[in-house]
Amino acid sequence: MADLYIDGEWTAAAAGGRREVLNPFDASVVREVDEADATDVDRAVRAARRAFDEEDWARAPVRRRADVLRGVGELLLRDVEEIGRTETLDTGKTLTEARIDVEDVANAFRYFAEIAGKDGGRVVDVGPGVLSRVVYEPIGVCALIAPWNYPLLQASWKVAPALAAGNTFVLKPSEVTPLSSLLMMRLIEEAGAPRGVANLVLGSGAGVGAALTAHPDVDLVSFTGGLSTGRNIMASAATDVKNIALELGGKNPNIVFADADFDAALDYALDAAFLHSGQVCSAGSRLLVQDELYEEFVAALARRAEAIRLGSGLDPATESGPLSSAEHRAKVEGYLEIARTEGARLVTGGRRPDDPQLARGYFLLPTIYADCDRSMRIVQEEVFGPVVTAERFRDEAHAVSLANDTRYGLAGAVWTSDASRAQRVANALRHGTVWINDFHPYLPQAEWGGFGRSGVGRELGPTGLHEYQETKHIYQNLDPAPSGWFKG
Ligand code: NAD
Repeated sequence: MADLYIDGEWTAAAAGGRREVLNPFDASVVREVDEADATDVDRAVRAARRAFDEEDWARAPVRRRADVLRGVGELLLRDVEEIGRTETLDTGKTLTEARIDVEDVANAFRYFAEIAGKDGGRVVDVGPGVLSRVVYEPIGVCALIAPWNYPLLQASWKVAPALAAGNTFVLKPSEVTPLSSLLMMRLIEEAGAPRGVANLVLGSGAGVGAALTAHPDVDLVSFTGGLSTGRNIMASAATDVKNIALELGGKNPNIVFADADFDAALDYALDAAFLHSGQVCSAGSRLLVQDELYEEFVAALARRAEAIRLGSGLDPATESGPLSSAEHRAKVEGYLEIARTEGARLVTGGRRPDDPQLARGYFLLPTIYADCDRSMRIVQEEVFGPVVTAERFRDEAHAVSLANDTRYGLAGAVWTSDASRAQRVANALRHGTVWINDFHPYLPQAEWGGFGRSGVGRELGPTGLHEYQETKHIYQNLDPAPSGWFKG
């Protein structure tokens, strides 16, 4: 096997390390892959450094890079079935969702191809005698570290802008879900990226991820994952004062006013909480419902949650799959225990399903806790599973105060038929994305990222490209003459 891609070659891990990748539906082995170590990381970073300094990439016309990105976009769509199926086996998500992910990944590549050359900097108006230009340049070698919930999508939000800006990179996907990244790297190779521009290392966070983050030849670390890992990465990057971009977790309020369209709000509240078993950074895991609607809404949500069909992501009848790993399910079950001891009222779920066909997979029933309050850990901490807490609110001010009472600030939604209130609440929310009468959509053209502990920087949109650029000011005196400052 040769699963690492370093300096244009598919290669095995130097020390011969291997890891089994499991299917979370039944714990079967999908594939074994190479497991890198610090030696492989060093080789990959050196290759990226050499390519940045020597290859015709960073300084090539933007058109050349845009062609490669567009090519990757087309190849992804050509291979959508293979990549989608791989993502389903790796993550447990439904094939329908995995196919949509691949299309979204293709759109990210197309978008960054489109905007790669759009912002050429600016000329500063200083008057005659001076030419002052602000220009954007690639940062250099980027370490890109991705999570397991949207393995390819999250990686693409880094890989596409990094390439568009003229950087070289080393990608480390999650050790739990590396397989779709392998396929993407083959497509980047096929689309014609020069040797050493794109590199892939596989392995654990503590081993490979930490070595990559700490490598002195890395200029930027872009990370998507959990809060505590984000803190470690930030501390590690501080040694060399590396550029850093962090997309971390969320505890996202979904606010439903009594005047909302009941059926639409209910349907989306279900999606918000239980899509991909709640393993979504922007999951609407904190439901806030106005007093007069509260009981009816929570009861209806429970009925719908109980009807969600759990199963294999490859079965078209399945609506939701398992959690990603045994370790992750154990973490979520720990929160079920916390909710119990905190006195949250369990409305439905709160345990593994009885269905023997699901017994080998990492399943949990969709779970709703009612009568929660903001002091509870189950309300404040990211559970990252099929668990939603419900709180009641009196009025607009109360809703905003609850929704902003979080250390996170990734996303939130407001449901109301009052257009003015919708805008007032959207303006008041301290969250990076706010949906009005909707939940979950994002656009490659619009920035994505969080306030507070949800992260640093933004992905997507023009800002998502600038994250991968240095800004340089070039000042030219067009008519040099002695300044006469010192008289001697
Ligand atoms: P994680 O932090 O455990 O791991 C993420 C990645 O970091 C993995 O590749 C892992 O191997 C690596 N890693 C772990 N320790 C490391 C270290 N010390 N140094 C360098 N790399 C290290 O996160 P996860 O469990 O894979 O993902 C779930 C988390 O990701 C959730 O908190 C979720 O909210 C967050 N997330 C955020 C967004 C966003 O856009 N804000 C998107 C998806 C997921």
